[in-house]
Amino acid sequence: MHDLIIRNVNLVDGRCGQDVLIGAGRIVAVGPALDATASGTLDGGGNLLSPPFIDAHFHMDSTLTYGMPRVNQSGTLLEGIALWGELKPTLVQDAIVERALAYCDWAVAKGLLAIRSHVDVCDSRLLAVEALLDVRARVKPYLDLQLVAFPQDGLLRTPGTLANLRRALALGVDVVGGIPHFERTMADGAESVRILCELAADEGRLVDMHCDETDDPLSRHIETLAFWTQRLGLQGRVTGSHLTSMHSMDNDYVSKLIPLIRDAQVGVVANPLINITLQGRRDTYPKRRGMTRVPELMAAGVDVAFGHDCVMDPWYALGSADMLEVASMGLHVGQMTSAAGMRSAFDAVTVNPARILHLDGYGIAPGCRADAVLLQAHDPTEAIRLRAARIAVIRAGKIIAESPASAAMLHIEGRPSRVDWTHRPNRT
Ligand SMILES: [Zn+2]
Repeated sequence: MHDLIIRNVNLVDGRCGQDVLIGAGRIVAVGPALDATASGTLDGGGNLLSPPFIDAHFHMDSTLTYGMPRVNQSGTLLEGIALWGELKPTLVQDAIVERALAYCDWAVAKGLLAIRSHVDVCDSRLLAVEALLDVRARVKPYLDLQLVAFPQDGLLRTPGTLANLRRALALGVDVVGGIPHFERTMADGAESVRILCELAADEGRLVDMHCDETDDPLSRHIETLAFWTQRLGLQGRVTGSHLTSMHSMDNDYVSKLIPLIRDAQVGVVANPLINITLQGRRDTYPKRRGMTRVPELMAAGVDVAFGHDCVMDPWYALGSADMLEVASMGLHVGQMTSAAGMRSAFDAVTVNPARILHLDGYGIAPGCRADAVLLQAHDPTEAIRLRAARIAVIRAGKIIAESPASAAMLHIEGRPSRVDWTHRPNRT
C-alpha cells in the first residue's frame, strides 16, 4: 500500500489529467488514471501540481526587522547596510531564531520549501550564524535551508572578516559568499573574489556572491568572478547574485561578458522586487530599472533564478514569501511578456534555482522527492497571473499546509454567480 495518490492534476510540462503516486517519501509513478491504491487520496481537480518553489537568494537573519531601530529614509542599498550596522550590536539570538521560524512558516504556507539564505559573518560573535544553524536543523523536516557565509561589510574592508567567514564554514555554513562591489576599491573587490574562490576550491564549496549591486556600469566584478570560476575549475558551482550594474553597462562590453558567464557556467540570481526599488535612486528621469539582463542571459543559456532577497527588513518593507509575486515582478521588469517569457519566469522560481542550489531529486517524476505544491491554476502562466492559491503543500508525501481555493460570489443585478478567474481564449 502506498502513502498518497494525487488524482487528476496538470503538470508544468503541459501534460493534463495525470495521477501521481507517492510512497516512502518519493514519487513512485506518474501517469493518467493510475491503477493503484494508497492510504490517502487528494483530488487535484485539474489544477497544476508543481514541484515546490525555491528562493535562491534571501537574508533570513534580517527578516521581519522592519523599523528596527528606524526605517530606511533614502531607500538605498547603502542606507540599508548602515541601518543593519546599527541594528547588529543589539541583536539577540533567540529573537533571530523566532523571526526566522515565523518566516519559514510563511514560506511553507506559500509552497516555498527550499531557501538559500545569506548570513552575515562580520559580527565576531557569529550570533546570526549560530541562530540560523539552529533554524536550519529545526526546519529540516519541512524546508531545505542552505546558508551562505556573507561578509556584509566587506571581506577586506573589515578586519577579521576572513577569519570569521572561515569559522562560519567550520561551524557548518554551506556556501562561500562575498560582496566585491562594497570593498573600498575595484582592486580590493577583485582581490576578494580571488581569495573567496580559492577558499571555495580548497574546501569543495559552492560560491554565491553579491556582485555589482550598483548602477555604476564600470562595476565589473562578475567578469572577475567568471574568470576565477574557470581558472579554478569551479564551473557549475558559482552564482553571481544581483549583477545590477549590467543593466547600465555598454552593450558592446555585455556582448563579450554574457558568453563568458555562460562558458564559466556561472548561475545568476536577479532580485526584482528589491532591485526595482533600491536601484536608480540617484537618477532623476529617465530612471533606470536596476534589474540585470534576465531575458538576454536566459537566451544565452545561463541558469537565471529570481530571488526574494528581503522581507520586511532595512532594505525592503514588503513581501510575504510568495515566489509567484517575485516571478510576476521579474516578468514585468524584464518585459518577458511573450508566452515563452512568462513560462520562463515560472522556471526562475522552480527548476532554475533547483540547479543553482544543487538540490537532489527535484521534480514531479518517478524517483523524485515527493515535495510539491498544488496550485489553483491550470498552467504556470496562470499561476503567476493569479498568484494562485496554494491548495495543498506536500513534503515527503505528507500534506503540510492547505489553503482554501480563492472564490467570490457576486450578488449583482439579481443574478447570484460565482466568479471564475480562469480565462482561456485560445482553447477550443
Ligand atoms: Zn542579498
